Amino acid sequence: MSEAPVKTKKRFIAGAVCPACSEPDKLMMWSEDDVPHRECVACGYADTLNAQGLSVPKELGTRVNTSALKPAADKSVQAVQFFPNPKLKKKSED
Ligand SMILES: [Zn+2]
Repeated sequence: MSEAPVKTKKRFIAGAVCPACSEPDKLMMWSEDDVPHRECVACGYADTLNAQGLSVPKELGTRVNTSALKPAADKSVQAVQFFPNPKLKKKSED
């Protein structure tokens, strides 16, 4: 089974305050596989909510979706296209 990544709609949460930088109205929220994701556009803080509705902070720099961010000023950081082999699916992750 190979499903294309679902495009998620990110929405700003009115009145929400970032737990990391305390900036209001900077949090975006969307769902992936019914899991609520949040991301702060001000500081880059991101987390998900688990089944109990508790915040689970993401590790920065590992799985950050840079396509949603402004282009980095440092041109030495180059986007690399990576084509994973579908036969080599990780089973331990997620
Ligand atoms: Zn923030």
